[in-house]
Amino acid sequence: MKIHTYLSPPHMGKNELKYIKKVFKSNYIAPLGEYVNKFEESISKTINIKYSLALSSGTSAIHLALRVLGINKNDEIWASSWTFIGSVAPALYENAKLFFIDCDESWQLSPSLLLEEIQNRKTKKEKLPKALILTHLYGQMAKINEISKICKENNIFLIEDAAEALGAKYNGQYAGSFGDMGIFSFNGNKILTTSSAGMLVSDNEQWIKKAGFLSTQAREEEIFYEHKDYGYNYRLSNVLASIGVAQMEVLEKRVKKKRKIFLWYKKYLKDKVEYMPEIENSFGNRWLTTIILPCPYQKVLQALSDKGYESRPLWKPMHLQPLFKENDGIYNGVSEAFFKNGLCLPSGTKLKKKDVEKISRIVLENINRGSLKVKI
Ligand SMILES: *Cc1c(COP(=O)(O)O)cnc(C)c1O
Repeated sequence: MKIHTYLSPPHMGKNELKYIKKVFKSNYIAPLGEYVNKFEESISKTINIKYSLALSSGTSAIHLALRVLGINKNDEIWASSWTFIGSVAPALYENAKLFFIDCDESWQLSPSLLLEEIQNRKTKKEKLPKALILTHLYGQMAKINEISKICKENNIFLIEDAAEALGAKYNGQYAGSFGDMGIFSFNGNKILTTSSAGMLVSDNEQWIKKAGFLSTQAREEEIFYEHKDYGYNYRLSNVLASIGVAQMEVLEKRVKKKRKIFLWYKKYLKDKVEYMPEIENSFGNRWLTTIILPCPYQKVLQALSDKGYESRPLWKPMHLQPLFKENDGIYNGVSEAFFKNGLCLPSGTKLKKKDVEKISRIVLENINRGSLKVKI
């Protein structure tokens, strides 16, 4: 059957088209223009951070964060192993060495593995990494309090990959605003989308200025084109930024609906599956409802697909990717187990309760009973 219900399709509000029309009328179709500024301001204001830079993607935002910190082939970057490739591929662009860290019961990077590895390096008198890329997976907060403390104490720059976590909070503070820099994504299936965009945020004005310079081909301030360094064409177009401004207006609404969808699933699936936790004092955006089945996911995924529902396995950990077979890391088997039995359920914000009921019924009918649960 053809897919009729996607995992997390775009959900436009009332003002996106209106703002696009304004852009057309002004003819600021070309890069930059007032909506780029407005989009940046709305992010800065919402998450309470000083500076934001609108870019063409979340991946480019991470790349610029690394460039700004001067990461190169002599540096090591540590990162969550359980993440999406866009989170870590930029380290390869700069030929930095990647080292991966597994997760714990929070379904996120384990602070105790992080500490253990720092201790290992200290014992061996080896260098610590220059930066840690921490993903807040599926819109839920990682143990940001502990992790940012560890990074500060050990002079490791913290880059928060909040691509999936716009609107998530810990102790009332927004994801993306804890680290030295944070990034967001507005690609097609994120909680908000402009079709594609990214945002780099920081309280450090110099870094954001430098990133802005690199995002527009590193052009010096001359009338002619003068270059002392090389950059990229990473800036966001005014047209897409206008969609972003309208999407930011509905952020709270979208988060509310995503959380509601999660509760509906919980109501129907009860304790037959495990759910991604919300750590104490945190508030997730529940971008996708993610579950761990008591059996491998394949049969359930197929059954849903047969009925026209798109579901997806959880991210395949980076340390299991052929691309990274030579890379080292510190692992405990948790993300690997999650990958075997985990599933992302349809979580689009237009879903109705009866859709969730139908999907849940299919899930329950296709769970193999009696299999082992994931052990942490
Ligand atoms: C989507 C995503 C990215 C990359 O964002 P793009 O805008 O698609 O480049 C990075 N990290 C995570 C965890 C993501 O989910």
